[in-house]
Amino acid sequence: MQSAPSSPAHPIPPQELLPPMTAHEAAVEANRCLYCYDAPCLQACPTHIDIPTFIRKIGTGNLRGSARTILESNFLGGTCARVCPVQELCEGACVLGADHTPIQIGRLQRHAVDHVQERGIQLFTPAPATGHRVAVVGSGPAGISASAELARAGHEVTLYEKRELGGGLSTYGIIVLREPVEVALREVQAARDLGVNVVTGHELSDRAGLDELLAANDAVVLALGLGAVPAIGIPGEEHILGGLEVIEASKMDRPTGVGARAVIIGAGNTAIDAATIAGRSGADTLMVYRRTEHEMTAYRHEYEFALHEGIRFSFLTQPVEVLHGNGQVTGLRCVRMRLGAPDASGRARPEPVPGSEFVIPCDTVISAIGQEKPALAAAMGLDLDSGYIRVDDGLHTSLPRVYAAGDCVRVRGNASTVMAVQDGKIAAASIERALGRTPRVTLIPTPPAEVRDHPLYLAAHGPVPNGVASTAGAAHAPATEAHHG
Ligand SMILES: Cc1cc2nc3c(=O)[nH]c(=O)nc-3n(C[C@H](O)[C@H](O)[C@H](O)COP(=O)(O)OP(=O)(O)OC[C@H]3O[C@@H](n4cnc5c(N)ncnc54)[C@H](O)[C@@H]3O)c2cc1C
Ligand code: SF4
Repeated sequence: MQSAPSSPAHPIPPQELLPPMTAHEAAVEANRCLYCYDAPCLQACPTHIDIPTFIRKIGTGNLRGSARTILESNFLGGTCARVCPVQELCEGACVLGADHTPIQIGRLQRHAVDHVQERGIQLFTPAPATGHRVAVVGSGPAGISASAELARAGHEVTLYEKRELGGGLSTYGIIVLREPVEVALREVQAARDLGVNVVTGHELSDRAGLDELLAANDAVVLALGLGAVPAIGIPGEEHILGGLEVIEASKMDRPTGVGARAVIIGAGNTAIDAATIAGRSGADTLMVYRRTEHEMTAYRHEYEFALHEGIRFSFLTQPVEVLHGNGQVTGLRCVRMRLGAPDASGRARPEPVPGSEFVIPCDTVISAIGQEKPALAAAMGLDLDSGYIRVDDGLHTSLPRVYAAGDCVRVRGNASTVMAVQDGKIAAASIERALGRTPRVTLIPTPPAEVRDHPLYLAAHGPVPNGVASTAGAAHAPATEAHHG
C-alpha cells in the first residue's frame, strides 16, 4: 500500500491537440452565446452543468465563479472539457449549430476549470463531519466523482485504487492528445484536497475484502471500470499487443512496441486511439474491421479524425491468424466478410466469404476490441446483468450497502467519462438517502425503456444506461424525486 505522488499545480505541457483558448478568444466565444432560456445544451449534458451560467461568467471575466458553476455539477469538469463527445452532447444541442457554428462549450469549460486548477484554487469545503464512513473502490471518474460528492457532504471517505496512480482511464487510457496525465492527476489531488483519503496500490480482490470494507464503513461504492482487452482466439495471439497497453505506454513515456507497419483490430474509439498512437509514432497504420463503416462503434468525428491522421481502413475484414517467425510478427492472415441477417445487437451479422483469405504484411498487430467485463463482481457474489454489475435506479447492487458506478454497470450505450461522473453523483445521492440525509443532487425518475431508447429522448438527455436515473444540480432540481429504498 502506498500513496500516489501528489500533483503540484502547474500548467499543462503543450501536447494537447487543441490549444487552450486565450482570454480574448474565450471572451469573444462567450459573447456569442444566446443564454437560451431552458437551454438545450444543459439538458444534453449528462451531468446537467448550467452551461449558459458558466459561459456568462466567462463573458464577465469571472473565471472562478464560472469554474464553480461547472464543478458544482461535474467534479471532473477539466477532464470532461477535453474528452466529452461534445458533438453528440452539449455542442450538438446548441441552437447556434443549426445555422452557424455551435458555441465551443468544451473549450470554454476547459478555459474556466484550468484557470482554477492550474492555480490550485480550492472552491469547495466539506460540510461538518457526519461521523459516517464510506469506502470507494476504483479511482476513475466514477470513483472520484462519488468520493468528492460524499466528502463534500461531510463523510469520511477512503478511495482505494489498485494502480500506482489514481485517475483510472483518464490517467492511463485516454491519449495525451486529448488528455495529458497531469489533468487527471489534478482531479485526484482535488479530491484529496476535499479530505478524501486516496490509498493507491490497494486492490480489492475478493468477497472477504468487501466484507472487511462493509464492517468498517456505512457503505461501499464499487467503481471498478472494466478489464483488459479480451482475447480474439486466433493462432499467434500471443504476438498481439493490447490496445490499452500501447496507449498506456505512450502516456507513461515507455516504449510502445509499435514497429513500422501496424494493423489495428477493431473499429471503436479505443481502436482509433491505438491507431492514432501507432500512426503518430511513424507506423504505416491500417485498421481492420469485420463489418462496414456504417456499423463501426467509433463516433463519426473520431472516424473522420482517423482519416485525417492518414490511418487507412480495411472493412469487411476478419483476422484469422497472426503470422510470425523468430519471435517477430510478419503478417496478419485475414478473410473477407460479407454482411448477412441482423444478429442479436440488431447489426448485420458478418459472414466469411469462402476462399477469400489474404495476408496483410505487417510487423505489429494491436487488438482493441473492447474491454473484459468486471470478473471480480461475480466472485464477490454480486448479481450481474450481461456480465456487468446489476444495479437499480439508485445504483444500489444486489448486496446491502454496496453501490456500483461507471463502466462496470454500463450495460447499454457508449461508455463515457461524463456518464461515469454522473453515476458517481447518483451513487453518492443514494447513500445520502440511505443514511437518512437529503442529498445535494436530486434524482429524476428513470423513464420507461421505450422512452429512454427513443432517438428524441437520447438526443436531449444522452444515453441513460442500465435503468440509471439522471440527476440535476441543485439549481435545477425537479419537483419529483426517485425514492431509494
Ligand atoms: C482508450 C480509451 C479511450 C477513451 N476515450 C474516451 C473519450 O475520449 N471520451 C469519453 O468520454 N470516454 C472515453 N473513454 C471511456 C472512459 O474512459 C470511461 O468511460 C471512464 O473512464 C469510466 O470511468 P470509471 O471510473 O467507471 O472506470 P475507469 O476509468 O476504468 O476506472 C476504474 C478504476 O478502478 C480501479 N480498479 C479496478 N478494480 C479494482 C480493484 N479490485 N481494487 C482497486 N481498484 C480497482 C482501476 O485501476 C481504475 O483506476 C475511453 C476509454 C478508453 C479505454
Ligand atoms: S461535461 Fe461534457 S457534455 Fe457536459 S457541458 Fe461539459 S463538455 Fe459538454
